[in-house]
Amino acid sequence: MELLFTRCSGAGTKSKRINCPIGKKAMKKDLWTMPYAASLLLLGMTYLPIPSRAAPAAAESIDGFRDTPMIPGTQWHLHDPDRPQPPVVTPGRNFSQEATAPSDAEVLFDGRDLAKWQTASGQDAPWKVKDGFMETAGREGIRTRGKWKDLQLHVEFATPLPPKGSGQGRGNSGILINGMYEVQVLDSYQAKTYPDGQAGAIYGQSPPLVNASKPPGEWQTYDILFESPRWNPQGELIKKAVVTVLHNGVVVQNHYEFTGITDGITGEVPWKTLAHYGPPHPPEVFIELQYHNNPLRFRNIWVRQLGLANPR
Ligand code: MG
Repeated sequence: MELLFTRCSGAGTKSKRINCPIGKKAMKKDLWTMPYAASLLLLGMTYLPIPSRAAPAAAESIDGFRDTPMIPGTQWHLHDPDRPQPPVVTPGRNFSQEATAPSDAEVLFDGRDLAKWQTASGQDAPWKVKDGFMETAGREGIRTRGKWKDLQLHVEFATPLPPKGSGQGRGNSGILINGMYEVQVLDSYQAKTYPDGQAGAIYGQSPPLVNASKPPGEWQTYDILFESPRWNPQGELIKKAVVTVLHNGVVVQNHYEFTGITDGITGEVPWKTLAHYGPPHPPEVFIELQYHNNPLRFRNIWVRQLGLANPR
């Protein structure tokens, strides 16, 4: 009532407030107050969070998709942010870092030049070489001039320091075998993304068994064993591509069979669609270092062809 009287007395003095009866002015105040309260209620309904069945808050901070196809044999969508994050393993300090090449290996990069590398159109590789490493430059990946049938690959990489971006925009590159089959390169050190897209993943197919990433800026190693797919003379797939990957000395893929070409890197399998194999290709394959909008460094790359004494 006092508020009502104070308002009704206008600029009022004490005496006016005391003397103000419940009359015409007081009724105006009552009528004004009701829509004011209703407005506040409406505003609250507009801006207060509305409970929903959306995913829990923890999952909302991870990039990914829930409207993509289900990966066959799993309960997860392609690039699913809700898929469990692989356990973190701290790798040993320097498993195969700066490992010198075995006698039967072909050295692809020894820190000096990019003579063994080219662009997709056969031009000289435009990436920068300095201080014993190469760094992405231009806006395309580079690939080896040579090809190998079933291989062992050693490659070292470092994601940017200080780190920039998040999710798939944080140190993204990849080892693209034959420009088709990707072992993902990403900064996954204390950084989450959809698990089938993190470091050590077979992108869109198989999350790494564990997250063995090192901090951004530190040199990391991949030791990759890859067997090419095979087709019979009738063009039927008779053996899938198989890969084993050690990340900083830790097995993150164990004899994994590719379900097909990685989504998003060739026209054969568009991004966010399920992998499948394309037309037959020879077992001899090149190795590509992916350019994916982020600056990456690589060093000490060598390859061995497997099964020379007993080729299949
Ligand atoms: Mg990539």
